[in-house]
Amino acid sequence: MDVSKDIGSLKGVGPKLREKLNKCGIFTVLDLLLYFPRDYEFLRSNIDFNEIDDKEKQVLSCRCVSIERDVRTKTGKFITTIKFDYLGYVVDGKWFNQRFIKNSFKIGENYDLMGKYKKLGNRLEIVNPIVGVKVAKENEIVPKYSLKGDMTDKILIKLINQCIEDLKINDNLPKELIEKYKLTDLDFAIRNIHFPSGREELEKAITRLKFQELFNYSMKLLILKRKLKSKNGIKFDWVDELADLKAALPYSLTEAQTRVVREILRDQKSQFPMNRLVQGDVGSGKTVVALIAMFNVVKNGYQATLMVPTEILANQHYLEAKKLLEQFDVHIELLTGSTSQKEKRRIKELIATDTPMIVIGTHALIQEDVEFANLGLAITDEQHRFGVEQRNKLINKGRRPDVLVMTATPIPRTLALYVYSDLDISVIDKLPPGRKPVETKFFLENDRTAGYSLVMDEINKGRQVYIVCPLIEEDEKMELNSVEKLYRELKDGIFRNVEVEILHGKMKPKEKDEIINRFKKNETKVIISTTVIEVGVNVPNASVMIIENAERFGLAQLHQLRGRVGRGQYESYCILIGKAKSEVTKRRMEIMTSSTDGFYISEQDLKLRGSGEMFGMRQSGDEGLILANIYEDLAILRCAREEGKQLLNSNNPEKVRLCNEIAESLDRWSQYICFN
Ligand code: ADP
Ligand code: MG
Repeated sequence: MDVSKDIGSLKGVGPKLREKLNKCGIFTVLDLLLYFPRDYEFLRSNIDFNEIDDKEKQVLSCRCVSIERDVRTKTGKFITTIKFDYLGYVVDGKWFNQRFIKNSFKIGENYDLMGKYKKLGNRLEIVNPIVGVKVAKENEIVPKYSLKGDMTDKILIKLINQCIEDLKINDNLPKELIEKYKLTDLDFAIRNIHFPSGREELEKAITRLKFQELFNYSMKLLILKRKLKSKNGIKFDWVDELADLKAALPYSLTEAQTRVVREILRDQKSQFPMNRLVQGDVGSGKTVVALIAMFNVVKNGYQATLMVPTEILANQHYLEAKKLLEQFDVHIELLTGSTSQKEKRRIKELIATDTPMIVIGTHALIQEDVEFANLGLAITDEQHRFGVEQRNKLINKGRRPDVLVMTATPIPRTLALYVYSDLDISVIDKLPPGRKPVETKFFLENDRTAGYSLVMDEINKGRQVYIVCPLIEEDEKMELNSVEKLYRELKDGIFRNVEVEILHGKMKPKEKDEIINRFKKNETKVIISTTVIEVGVNVPNASVMIIENAERFGLAQLHQLRGRVGRGQYESYCILIGKAKSEVTKRRMEIMTSSTDGFYISEQDLKLRGSGEMFGMRQSGDEGLILANIYEDLAILRCAREEGKQLLNSNNPEKVRLCNEIAESLDRWSQYICFN
């Protein structure tokens, strides 16, 4: 069977079912096979009476003995009772409001009944059992899929079964690897991930598939890196004006910034395209590094672009760029969703000519009709906010431009190598001097008045305040409510005489800008917002950040939010308000109040949560990882990566062929793959 064929071509899949499958993201047979269960039900069948346990579902083969008369309860429900025999024990099967169920049974026949059996002395009782489950094995493990719409497990099980039956899955890992790591073959793994013949087999299937995913992932990154290193990019000279720019900055670069700038400039000068990640904690001064990099490219006669996730940030960077660079005769444009049509047209026309210039913008930059005549450098700021495709689109606007991605998401050093193994990494590991660490305090919800009174002191001193409420996922109304509710509450109370404004994601960009600008100009003292404020906003006079329902945020995000304050010369505070129901929450809040080091925090978070969620790495399954998790399966990843490296360096013809095969499949994907 060709696994790439449309799911609609399967027997029994009509247009309606096809649509349902599509809703679950299943378009081809392969998609179906890779639609792994989210969980399993461990069913035991036909066990001894003594072993029956009313906490777990069991399947027992019961002989129908008699069908009783329906009973009507006081509340008007009908109870149908059918008596069965199981190994000499009486079983009462009871159904509520399913009077027709009687027709499914014949006295003297055997039926497999699934459900939780309750022991009443020597009898058994089961309520609303499911009839006719196939009891294939002693102990069956039933897959549970994640379901959308009115899809059911039953449909999926039937279809997957049908596909697997007439399919022999060929292996795609080198034999030696399978032997070395005692992995099962792929065919076994796919069959057992859906329909495990036992717990041990399930474990084996999972391990094999995780290895597989992480091996592919490593190969992808390694091959990509090798390819990039083998291609010729643009060579940029170091222009003399770099020294003038450096002298004109209102501050001197920190040692860390200087080192990173040097690393970037070295890449620019080399004949290979740059592919570099700049990691630096919030406030470490990444913007100016990006501006210097763009400056050099423009002075070499090329175009450079900086893409950021929000309009607020685009504006801020634009103004900063103008302030620092315009005196050097650098042409700078701003392109965002709210740029007027006329302006957009003008800017796009200009970009399409080979005028050297810097273009700063949002997603508007990657629209199809934006064509760069000679893009030399593509930068994405706050890269975790972009999907792989978006980042890649930007890069594809040029012919092998240099690529720089910037992130404040701290990734523990031990992991960075694996997560970003195709990128060269620069770390800005020191903050500019004079920054005072943000003092962080945690208040239980009942004590929040105490937290807020500290705020009034700061406002009276002339400072400004951010208040952040969590964005309640998938419920826009709730989101508005939480911000608006808090606004009303505070406006009626402590902030009666204070200028307060609301900011949230559903506002028009222009509206958001106006609000931020009033805040920047110190006309507003307090902004109550959702997490739209998270990335990059820079208002040095703001000295307090209050975070409501702090327990709902990941530590990395709390750290990012906290980075909005402590940007000026003032003593700054972060006040976390929330519940501390569990030990883990308490510990997490402790981590926040005791440290301001993003790397330390992320490492601790990793220990506590043992998951990659906090980095937003799993957000879109970009890496083709379904079962494996880079953070949890680091041990497997290490092996897989090591093997991948060896495979790539091997001269053995068989292995070279395998590498070429993988590389070829990468070519097909490369439009979806990005450089991180
Ligand atoms: P982030 O790394 O979070 O993007 P920014 O680039 O926004 O940080 O910088 C934060 C603040 O630090 C800005 O106000 C910027 O002007 C200032 N800054 C950057 N570099 C230095 C430096 N070397 N000395 C002093 N202030 C600096
Ligand atoms: Mg920034």
